[in-house]
Amino acid sequence: MIVSKKPFLIDTHAHLSMLDEFYVRFSTQQRTPGEFPGTEALINGLFTEGFGGILDIGTQAGDLPGRIAAFSRFERVRFSAGLWPDPKNIAGRRELVAQLEAHIAAVPAGLVVAVGECGLDHHQELPSGTALDKAGETELLEMLLDLAGRLRLPIIIHSRDAPEETAAVLARHSEVHGVIHCFSYGKEEVRKFLDLGYYISFAGNVTYKNASNLREALLFVPQDRLLLETDSPFLAPVPHRGKPANPGMVVENYVLAAELCGIGLMALGERIAENAESLFRLALSPHNAF
Ligand SMILES: [Zn+2]
Repeated sequence: MIVSKKPFLIDTHAHLSMLDEFYVRFSTQQRTPGEFPGTEALINGLFTEGFGGILDIGTQAGDLPGRIAAFSRFERVRFSAGLWPDPKNIAGRRELVAQLEAHIAAVPAGLVVAVGECGLDHHQELPSGTALDKAGETELLEMLLDLAGRLRLPIIIHSRDAPEETAAVLARHSEVHGVIHCFSYGKEEVRKFLDLGYYISFAGNVTYKNASNLREALLFVPQDRLLLETDSPFLAPVPHRGKPANPGMVVENYVLAAELCGIGLMALGERIAENAESLFRLALSPHNAF
């Protein structure tokens, strides 16, 4: 049992190294980013208040060493390493996957708990006159699934406008399990990914007024396969929508999910912590939180 009266909150998907830049951009655009003390101070504050943990997510081959240097001093931050399926990563996939693997090998054991994010994105805006190399994109994903299999790590999947294609690739790699992060489909697709053994994670957009399909999908996910995330600095949940997101805002996802599922916030906190623990082996159990 958790001793504290606060729910145990984990943000299973945040891009910590993007927060500072996002806030600066918001400020220079003269929009109101909200109170922001800087990423380090923000994380310090969260953990001082008993925040459960953050999984910091990689998207580029070279980003891991800098992220480890900046955030591994926080006891309750863990890391993933991956290649987002942008044209540059697709074109350079052979060298970049090798580089990623070398960077993961150089990190002290236990800090990198997943491969990703990676996946298929058929929604991305490309420079005019260029088309997405879909075969290359699929091959990049396959290479990262192979890497996850070799390292015996779970995989974090980004999938946008490509549910069938994503499911087909994952089905070919049944030795690897993971999570469909920032789930963006409906309940039919939920079933497909659940059948493949995947966890389903919902980001801040599940709180948006027009996202009833996501809330319907969430209700379809068994509680032992559910994860919650911010995808910070993107997709700030209501009532912060339009501002840069930070991991602390994940509480809004927990409140919404607890309401939808008809369970208490404390119970949901324990449940999500258990799920994150069994998928990522985070070593961030609520029992040694405070
Ligand atoms: Zn992300």
